[in-house]
Parts: sequence; C-alpha cells; structure tokens
Amino acid sequence: MKLALLLGGKPVFKSPIYVTKPVLPSMEQFVERIKLIFKTGILTNSGPFSVELEKTITKYLGVSDCALLCNGTIALQLALSSYRLSGEIITTPFTFPATVHVIALNQITPVFCDIDSDTYNIDVRQIENLITTKTTAILPVHVYGVPCDVEAIDIIAKRHGLRVIYDAAPAFGVQYKGRSIGNFGDASMFSFHGTKIFSTFEGGALVSSDDYFMQRVRILRNFGIISETEVISLGINGKINEIQCAFGLATLDLIKDEIAKRKYLYNKYTNGLKNLPGLYFQKIPKDIEQNYQYFSIRINKEEYGLNRDELTLVLREENIFPRKYYYPLCSQYPIYKGLPFSKPDILPVATNVTENILCLPLYGILSPEIVDIIIEIIHQAHKDRDKILKILNK
Ligand SMILES: *Cc1c(COP(=O)(O)O)cnc(C)c1O
Repeated sequence: MKLALLLGGKPVFKSPIYVTKPVLPSMEQFVERIKLIFKTGILTNSGPFSVELEKTITKYLGVSDCALLCNGTIALQLALSSYRLSGEIITTPFTFPATVHVIALNQITPVFCDIDSDTYNIDVRQIENLITTKTTAILPVHVYGVPCDVEAIDIIAKRHGLRVIYDAAPAFGVQYKGRSIGNFGDASMFSFHGTKIFSTFEGGALVSSDDYFMQRVRILRNFGIISETEVISLGINGKINEIQCAFGLATLDLIKDEIAKRKYLYNKYTNGLKNLPGLYFQKIPKDIEQNYQYFSIRINKEEYGLNRDELTLVLREENIFPRKYYYPLCSQYPIYKGLPFSKPDILPVATNVTENILCLPLYGILSPEIVDIIIEIIHQAHKDRDKILKILNK
C-alpha cells in the first residue's frame, strides 16, 4: 500500500474515522418513550424514567444501589462532598481532567501517584509513601475501563482508615472475579457521556452499598433540599432529565452486543499489530471481563521507527483520527504544575506513557475491513519510517 503522507494527498478513507461512535437505540423505542413524556408532562426531578433506569442499572450491574446524575463529573464531585472529604486525596495524573478537578473544586489537595507501566492504573506499591495525616481518601481510575488492583487498594485503605472512591467512568459493564467493578471501594462513578459505551447523551451514576452515602447523594443532587421548607446541605443541581433516561432505557439492551463486537475488533487489532516491533498493549490482569471501551497502543520510537505524534500524522493523512488519551498528564496543567507531587521526575512511568500512548478507533459499527486497513497503514508506516521522517523534518 502507498501512504497518503508520502504521496502528498489522497487519503484511503473519504470520510473521517473517529476514535468512537455512540450506540444508538432504535428510534421507535426512543420515540415511544418520548410520547409518554408528552403525555405526563414530567420532564425531570426523579420522574418515572429516571426511577426505572436507576432500578434497571442496579439490576443490570448487580450492585446495591445506583443514583443517576447529570454527568460523571458532578457525580464524582458529589461523592467527595457526600463523604465530607477534605485535606488531601491520592489520585493518578494519567486521567481525564475531571478526576483531579473535582478534588480541587472541593478545596482538597490532589496528590499524584505514579502509575503501573503495564496496566497504566495507579501503582499500588507507591500509594502508602504518599499518605500523610491530611489524607482522607484514594481516588483511583480504572484506566480505559481496565480495573485497578482493587484488592491491594482495599487493604491499604483499611489499614489507614481511608475512603476509596473509584473513577469508573469508562468501566460500565466491566467485571472482576464475576462481580461488577462497581462493587469495590466505598463508591464508584460511571459516566454516561456520548463517548462512553453506555450513554444517555450526557449523564453519570454513583453506585455504592453505603445507604447513608446514597441518601446524601440524592439530597445533594437536588440542591440539598429535603422538604418544601428544609434545605439541609450544600447541594447542587445534579439531576438527570427524563429524555436522557428514555434514551438510556432504550439503549441498555444493546450493550452486551456492543461489547461483543468491540471484543472482536480489539482482538483483531491485537493480532494484527503484535508482531510489529515497538508497539505495546495495555496489560489486562487476570479474572477480568472487559468492556473494550478503548484500544490503545504504546509506541517505542527506537523500535518502531516513528514516535506517537509522527504516527498520528500518518494516520490523519488517511482521514483516521486516533486520540492521545490521556495527554498531557493532569499534573502538567498550569493549575496543578506547582504542587509538590507534580514533578515529572517523581512520575516517570506516567510521563513516559502519556508521551507514547495512542487510542485507535474502536466502536461496534466500525467495520472489520476498516480495522484491517488501519493495521496495514501502521505496518506500512513502520516500513516507510525513514521516508516519513525525511518528509516530516523538511
Ligand atoms: C468520561 C470521563 C470522565 C467525565 O465524565 P463526564 O460524564 O463526561 O462528566 C471522568 N473521568 C474519566 C476517566 C472519564 O473517562
């Protein structure tokens, strides 16, 4: 095959291939429910669809309880305020901005812990070094939906009396040892943003088996109101609306099939790329049922011949738009850069991963033929590495 970058034009794909596409329900099933909204006139405030979706997700995931919220970020923020956390929270720099922002928005100091070089999740061997008298919680992320070492985190948290709130935003449907990943830690947040495997346009959920915590979340998401005349705490408007829940109810049945399709493509990528030098894949620990939210490659320039950004340029010329999740590290944002645990030399693994990671297109309706072509391009770019570098460095 001939690369567009070398020929100067003519991408292999006429229309852009993005990193993800949402699962859409049948329009009829969605419209049926919208008709009911028009009949009842109930648009929001824990209407029938949101109550139904909370029950359905609780059962679907096999968790104790689920509270829906307007998005995952507000959900996470309310989790911290529901537990009245303060002081310092240990988290990962290799994540989406929301994880760290909710800590700072609660007037808490984020303390960054380096990540594991195989799974890209928080490095459990380093957490205890970061615990001080001010630490109140650990906020790990299940990176790309792949579970953290939940057992080790549990032991550390118990030993030091810390809360564990998981950012499980990309981990909907993921299981560890046959149980939903939402059953670990004190609470977990799932995101239902349009880019996530299960979406409600925007939306999110907190799941927990702590009844008092869940009760507080439900009060906090509604301004702290408990009755017509009583506002008991510093709440916010975190409510999900009925049209979002109608969409979610019509979509949930499709998720198992979506995961199966993604699994096929994920394995295709892995098999198609594994023999190339310098490409590394996220390691999946034992006993995990994945949801295949993302497929990432980590590129070693010395071995592959091109670095992450150079390969990205090659792919873009072909109308393929991979994404650098997560780059830059949160610890490099101007607002967090000055913190004591933000220096790149104490976060060597995260600093390396963020520079070399790339997520390739992966979604259920992506055709296997397209994946084959993407694989072929990545092979061709390796073969043509010297020519490509010549053109890029001109
Ligand atoms: C998507 C995502 C979020 C944000 O969720 P929203 O629903 O968009 O607010 C937070 N953390 C991680 C790791 C995510 O992937």
